[in-house]
Amino acid sequence: MFMTKNVLKNLMTKYATRLYPFKKRETFKDVKGELKIEMEKCILCGVCKMRCPSQCITVDKQAKTWGVDPFSCVYCGICVDACPVKCLYQEGLYRAPLAEKDMILHIQEAAPAP
Ligand code: SF4
Ligand code: SF4
Repeated sequence: MFMTKNVLKNLMTKYATRLYPFKKRETFKDVKGELKIEMEKCILCGVCKMRCPSQCITVDKQAKTWGVDPFSCVYCGICVDACPVKCLYQEGLYRAPLAEKDMILHIQEAAPAP
């Protein structure tokens, strides 16, 4: 009897889930989304790399590159708060799911020449 009542109730009400990614959920205010960098401001100090709990940031002073593995990042924002020149920020968007062929395992940006 309990189950019949539940089935009937569920047939009459809207779905509790969304058809993601076709139906996207709007983000909340101040959501911590995808990590971005303004590479021209980065001084390659490595503080973000040292503070990252997921160890997903790489900083190579010699090659003048900064990189993040977006699949390891947990969007905590610790690196954003720790950066002394405030060149890291988080967009108010969630990272879109990528098809296997489009997978970027390592996003790397080079610092501009001095
Ligand atoms: S903490 Fe900021 S300036 Fe230092 S390496 Fe990271 S992004 Fe660059
Ligand atoms: S947001 Fe958190 S997990 Fe992602 S790179 Fe920054 S410190 Fe690491």
